[in-house]
Amino acid sequence: MLTDADLRHLRRCVELAVEALEDGDEPFGSVLVSADGTALAEDHNRVAGGDHTRHPEFELARWAAANMTPEERAAATVYTSGEHCPMCAAAHGWVGLGRIVYASSTEQLVSWLTELGVPAAPVRPLPIREVAPGVVVEGPVPELAERVHDLHRRFHSAR
Ligand SMILES: [Zn+2]
Repeated sequence: MLTDADLRHLRRCVELAVEALEDGDEPFGSVLVSADGTALAEDHNRVAGGDHTRHPEFELARWAAANMTPEERAAATVYTSGEHCPMCAAAHGWVGLGRIVYASSTEQLVSWLTELGVPAAPVRPLPIREVAPGVVVEGPVPELAERVHDLHRRFHSAR
């Protein structure tokens, strides 16, 4: 069950995804929130420069490793516009971050990209639970997922 605060953080992720899109990047955005509800760090996708590891969830996992204690990390939540890819789910698991809440799922993304005729990614689209089974995961959120779907449509129709 998502709270108003959860939805507020998720809406911020979607705004960050819009910022990524406006910068010519794939539309993904994420926010790292502490146990007391403070947004500690946020980022959006930055792969347009050619480094395809520049996903926001990966950046937040490394930020958390550098700036938070293990206890703080375990009690934190990562909100994201799209479910973590396997690379980011692994980073999340390795640094011991807590709950993940996503607006749209990997399963939705794969069906959207297939519909748009985008070639398959070089990494298998596994759900978070297949990569980091100990992490509590919530999502998708239908009304926000529809907005994320629209951002992917805009990104790929601009190519
Ligand atoms: Zn990723």
